Amino acid sequence: MAQLDIIGLAKRYGDFHAVRDVTLNIRDGEFLVLLGPSGCGKTTTLRMVAGFIEPTAGHVRLGGADVTLLPPWKRNAGMVFQNYALFPHLTVAENVAFGLEMRKVAKAEIAQRVEETLALVRLTGLGDRLPRQLSGGQQQRVALARALAIHPDVLLLDEPLSNLDAKLRQEVRVEIRELQRKMGLTTVMVTHDQEEALTMADRLVVMSEGAVRQVGSQRDLYEQPADRFVAGFVGRSTFLEGTLEAPGRFRTGGGLALACTGGAPGRAVLALRPEQMVVRPGPAPGLDNDLPGTVEFVSYLGALIDIHVRLSPADRVVVQTANREGGYAPDVGQKVHVGWPASAGRVFGE
Ligand code: ATP
Repeated sequence: MAQLDIIGLAKRYGDFHAVRDVTLNIRDGEFLVLLGPSGCGKTTTLRMVAGFIEPTAGHVRLGGADVTLLPPWKRNAGMVFQNYALFPHLTVAENVAFGLEMRKVAKAEIAQRVEETLALVRLTGLGDRLPRQLSGGQQQRVALARALAIHPDVLLLDEPLSNLDAKLRQEVRVEIRELQRKMGLTTVMVTHDQEEALTMADRLVVMSEGAVRQVGSQRDLYEQPADRFVAGFVGRSTFLEGTLEAPGRFRTGGGLALACTGGAPGRAVLALRPEQMVVRPGPAPGLDNDLPGTVEFVSYLGALIDIHVRLSPADRVVVQTANREGGYAPDVGQKVHVGWPASAGRVFGE
């Protein structure tokens, strides 16, 4: 277990900047998640930390020691790959023993650690099987056991759950998080799945186009997004294009005058979170914004209902409402009012 410092890390392929000047300090025992769309440089960053890709610039420090130029097996990092990368011709036990053999650990100790680690991931008794004789969830746990067996200073997880079905993924998320906490393991996980990131992380890093956009807690990212990209990537937002005419007054492309907070006058977008607005059958007194509209689309999501309301020819918003007994849920075509407080509208300059 150790502190992990990533300092000015960059990777260029020819003229293409896959990762640009990433600096992150991950505390001992912290679970950090790198979140971002496909191609944003998450995996490249993680692989540079693991030692599989040589950085163009920057440093990686593990427990204070510079490991930037060490090969993977000489830095004490356990890595779980997206496709697990188990050796198909080796048994489960041999797969788990692999990293220990690379590190020339004594035979008797290897046997003991393999047993211990298989027990930790609840695979006791399956050591003699080949990977193809296991379910996807079990293979995932072998990959995790292989990473844990070396008693890593840092655990690196590259989309470790993406090959599991939705229900199993939810269970394994909790299992990995509990294990990580119990062992106090400094962990970096890569995912493009925001729900996974929000569930598992102590702290999140949102990346796009090779660069860090924002670092913070779930609440920081959701309630104080640094820019339009983060507001659209973490949680959902309706974006209305327009102009901030004066502090607190936004004019949409469709001509609506809306009360908001923050931002600098000029061309801008207003971001609205769907759960911070209400739909009512008539005027919504007491709210800074109250606009008539027509329901164009309704999606029933079980616990929640999404209501898409047209406010002007150019402006449509999505309002999310809890599906409660006695709650108001209009039908398509109905005339309604949509209301929200000025503080629910966040303005981003263009
Ligand atoms: P995903 O979620 O799809 O894995 P990612 O955020 O992990 O995406 P990376 O795999 O880190 O993205 O890739 C970042 C960018 O670098 C991509 O545009 C990718 O095409 C490019 N890239 C990665 N490896 C190479 C390579 N060996 N040569 C050239 N470009 C590469």
